[in-house]
Amino acid sequence: MNIVIFGAPGSGKGTQSELIIENHGLHHVSTGDVLRDEIAKQSDLGKIADGYISKGYLMPDELIINILDRLLDEKIMKKGIIFDGFPRTVNQAEALQKMLNKYGQDVSVVIGLEVPEDELITRLVKRGRISGRFDDNEDTIKQRIQIYHKNTEPLADYYKQAGIYYPIKGIGTIDDIFKQIAGVLKSVSDKESGRQPA
Ligand code: ADP
Repeated sequence: MNIVIFGAPGSGKGTQSELIIENHGLHHVSTGDVLRDEIAKQSDLGKIADGYISKGYLMPDELIINILDRLLDEKIMKKGIIFDGFPRTVNQAEALQKMLNKYGQDVSVVIGLEVPEDELITRLVKRGRISGRFDDNEDTIKQRIQIYHKNTEPLADYYKQAGIYYPIKGIGTIDDIFKQIAGVLKSVSDKESGRQPA
């Protein structure tokens, strides 16, 4: 099973990904984590990433698609993947489809975490204070949310049309949100294995 966890910055993608991994043993691919690692290593890629991330812009599709392509291999594909923070544009989604098809696989399900905008801003400002994450400051946060609406949100329609988009209300306790996600994953995996839901 390959899962895309989808939502605005601050919607809880990373938090819920970890819970899904604990319970389903999938491989976690977070493009944000990959980029922050490169920045910490001060690699050439990291220097480029820093320029985009610190302003709240998306990395160019071509660069991020290349990173993904190098990351995927047979072993990871066998385990199944949770994609966190990728795809973020329709272009990236089309590229992902092609990459997975090379391994005879597909995106099985897209979990869309839906959170009101004022709540997103509150969470990100708080996260910035606690973690010191350099892109969690008010100006960058607003830029990221704007770009989310313009470039990333249309992807929800793309996946709705494919019939694999499942919206989840991303407010409430972490556990309650996870329970809803677990319910969706169970019904999808029952469907895939041809069993009737209990
Ligand atoms: P969040 O979802 O909270 O913004 P992420 O860690 O997923 O956090 O992403 C942090 C930043 O990394 C983004 O604002 C963007 O600049 C860059 N980034 C991550 N994933 C992608 C992607 N798929 N395409 C383009 N840029 C990306």
